Formats: sequence, structure tokens, C-alpha cells
Amino acid sequence: MATSLLLPRLGRSFVTTTFPKVQLQLSKFSTADVALDNGRDYGTNIAPLQTFTEAEMMMKETVAKFAQERIAPLVRKMDDESHMDESVIAGLFEQGLMGIEIEEQYGGPESSFFSSILVIEELAKVDPSVAVVCDVQNTLINTLLRKCGTEDQKRKYLPRLATDMVGSFCLSEVESGSDAFSLKTCAEKHKDYYIINGSKMWITNADIAGIFLVMANANFSAGYRGITCFIVDKDTEGLQVGKKEDKLGIRASSTCVVNFDNVKVPESNILGQLGQGYKYAIGMLNEGRIGIAAQMLGLAEGCFDNTIPYLKQRIQFGKRIYDFQGMQHQISQIATQLEAARLLTYNAARLKEAGKSFIKEASMAKYYTSEIAALTSAKCIEWMGGVGFTKDYPIEKYYRDCKIGSIYEGTSNIQLNTIAKLIDQGF
Ligand SMILES: Cc1cc2nc3c(=O)[nH]c(=O)nc-3n(C[C@H](O)[C@H](O)[C@H](O)COP(=O)(O)OP(=O)(O)OC[C@H]3O[C@@H](n4cnc5c(N)ncnc54)[C@H](O)[C@@H]3O)c2cc1C
Repeated sequence: MATSLLLPRLGRSFVTTTFPKVQLQLSKFSTADVALDNGRDYGTNIAPLQTFTEAEMMMKETVAKFAQERIAPLVRKMDDESHMDESVIAGLFEQGLMGIEIEEQYGGPESSFFSSILVIEELAKVDPSVAVVCDVQNTLINTLLRKCGTEDQKRKYLPRLATDMVGSFCLSEVESGSDAFSLKTCAEKHKDYYIINGSKMWITNADIAGIFLVMANANFSAGYRGITCFIVDKDTEGLQVGKKEDKLGIRASSTCVVNFDNVKVPESNILGQLGQGYKYAIGMLNEGRIGIAAQMLGLAEGCFDNTIPYLKQRIQFGKRIYDFQGMQHQISQIATQLEAARLLTYNAARLKEAGKSFIKEASMAKYYTSEIAALTSAKCIEWMGGVGFTKDYPIEKYYRDCKIGSIYEGTSNIQLNTIAKLIDQGF
């Protein structure tokens, strides 16, 4: 089963529009080389962080076009109705954006992690709600199945995830948020199956999901080492998707309670190894944080780009708003912080892709981009004056949407805890 393969595989030559002089040197190297040659000193051939392979550049442009043509006209309606238009989900699948790294043998385009990051960033420029649908699918669901799935599980689920099936990641519960491993959902063993009981909260994409990756404790006496990941199909008896949260932002993305009432799951639906679920969750969330950083980065960029033209047009005191030095300094400060956020995000993604340690950098990227998204969207509203405060312009939506960046996949405090812990350990 093949997706519409708009997404090219990781290319080996770099293109750069901003640094034509170094193009010849860069063309010798790609992220694939970096991955193969960990620690090698490239001397003058080190590529600037904002250098993309041809494949990545093509992907970025394709997604930007798709977002403008297919998503932008629906953003306001989807936000008002708290509902993602079916055509948007279908479009994400058609474009191959829901299975970016899935291997060709399972019907995916077998593209790179960095490409996923660029896709999430481009989608978030137009609608951060759409970006999170794509983010959860690619950085959590597909990655978990690709890394931990048996051959049978991969053959069963990956082709669907690449073409028409959304997945949900179920970790959080009413009483376990930041303290995720205190979860209460239990999986009781019977012969060759498990019975799952419990309730998950805040589950993204739950109302459109075909499968749920559920963290449940199969052995409470072992503490968090009892946590196991189960694949649960939507139609399994006893699984019920509950009420959709009425949220401040990313309203078009669904967030629901998911209840498990005596849900029978065959042993063969354990993903990875029994009792290793906590490790998988930590691993996935470490990577996933770079996805959220990309979402917050794209959000801030989209907000900024939608604001600047207005500032160049609006006249007060006989001048463009943009011409006041008091405004220019603020704009320059935000532009600089956006650049720093971009570099942190790209660096974390390149480190991850190169197989180097990236956890501290991923936490820094998520923490910082969330801060900058909040600052940028607040400033943009101020710069636009009264109209920025209305729904006639998209700015107020970015302001609402950005708040989630400092909450999900580890709050900002949790990122700061991680950074401090790693510094303490000498990283
Ligand atoms: C829109 C949305 C979508 C989500 N999607 C998913 C999903 O798909 N799957 C999923 O499993 N979960 C999901 N979540 C849950 C999300 O990951 C949690 O909300 C998040 O981890 C925080 O947990 P909490 O809300 O229980 O806050 P709490 O853990 O109760 O935190 C409250 C406050 O206390 C602070 N705090 C807590 N512990 C510490 C500490 N040790 N040090 C310092 N400060 C601390 C926090 O930083 C925060 O400010 C989603 C949440 C939302 C809002």
C-alpha cells in the first residue's frame, strides 16, 4: 500500500539560498554523513544550522503550499467550531504527512526526523492545531511502533498509520500528569490476554483515533517498572472515548477522556517488552519535545509574519507604525529571539538525527520556544493595537494557541528540572 509519495527520501546534497559561496563545500555532506561519522571533525565544512537537504527544502515548500491552500481557508471555522475539518485530516494523509518516517516497505515515504520537524513548523505557521495532530502521529505513535513493534504489529499498523488511521498516545490521568509514572490504569494478566481498567485524560486525537497506545501498570508491586505499553484498537469492547475538553487554544484539535472498562487485549498486543513502558514513554517524549518546539516555533513565526505587513501599512502621526524607532527595537528583539528559538530547535533535531545526545537540548528547545511563542504573540497583539485584539485578524488565536506549549509533553518547570539535572550530571 503506497501513500501519495510527495515526501522525498533524505537527500545527500545540500541546497542553500543564503550562503551560495559555501554551497560547493556543503554539497559533499548531508545529515546522513553526520549520522555515519559521529564525532568527526568537518573543519570548515560544517553546515550552518539553517541548511537543508534538497529533499528537506522540497518538503518545506510543499507543506507550506498545502497549508496555505488547504488549511488556511478553514482555520477560523475550525477554531470557532472546535472541530477539525475532515478534509484537513484527509489532506495530511494524501500528502504523506502522517507517516513521514515510516519505511517504504510499510507504505510510508521513509523520510527523516528533521523533515517531520520542518513539516510541524510549516503547519503551525498556519494552524498549530493541525500541527499537533501531525506531531503526535509522527513523533509519538509511528516512532513507538517503528522502534518497538514486532514484525506482525508493524505490518498490521504502519501501512494504516501512513495512509488513513490516526493514533493516540495515552499516558496522562486525572491524578498523574507531571508525575506520569504514578498512573493507576492497570492491566491484569489472564492466560494469554490482559484486562485493562482505568481512565486516561487529555488524550489528543482520541475522537478520531483508530488505535490507542496505552500505558498501563501490569505489576504494581514493581512500581513504575510494571508500566507496559498496549496497543488497543478503537473498537475493542469496553473502550469509550469520553467528553471533549472545551479549551482556551488549539481548539480544533480534540482532547478527550478515554475510559477502559474491562478492556480485553491479547498478550500479542503488548508493544515492546512487558514492564518497559516507562522507558518507551520517556524516550518518545524526549523526541516528541522537539516536535512541540517546532510547533511553538512555527506558531511564533506565523504570528510575526502576519503582523509585520500591517505595521508597514498602518499610518499614525503621518508615519508607518513600523517607522517608529520604539517599535523597530521591539520588532528586532523578537526577530532575534525567533532566530535563537529556530536554531535551538534545529540543533536538537539534528543532534537526535545524528544519534548524539539531545535530551538537554530538546528540553531547552521546548522550554525556550514556548516562552518565545508567548512573548511574540503578546507583542504582536500590542503592536497591532485594537485590531490585534479582535477575531478580524489571526493574531489573537496564536496568543491563545501558544499557551499549551508550556504545558503538554512536560511542563516548562519539568523541562527546567531536566536541564538542571543534566547539568548536574555533567552534560
Ligand atoms: C491540550 C492538551 C493535550 C494533551 N495531550 C496529551 C496526550 O495526547 N496524551 C497524554 O498522555 N497526555 C496529554 N496531555 C497531558 C499533559 O501532558 C499534562 O497536562 C502535563 O504533563 C501536565 O500535567 P498536569 O496537567 O496534570 O499538571 P500538573 O502535573 O498537576 O502540574 C501543575 C503545575 O505544577 C508544576 N509541577 C508539577 N510537578 C513539578 C515539579 N516536580 N517541579 C516543579 N513544578 C512542578 C507544573 O509545572 C505545573 O505548573 C495533554 C494536555 C493538554 C492540556
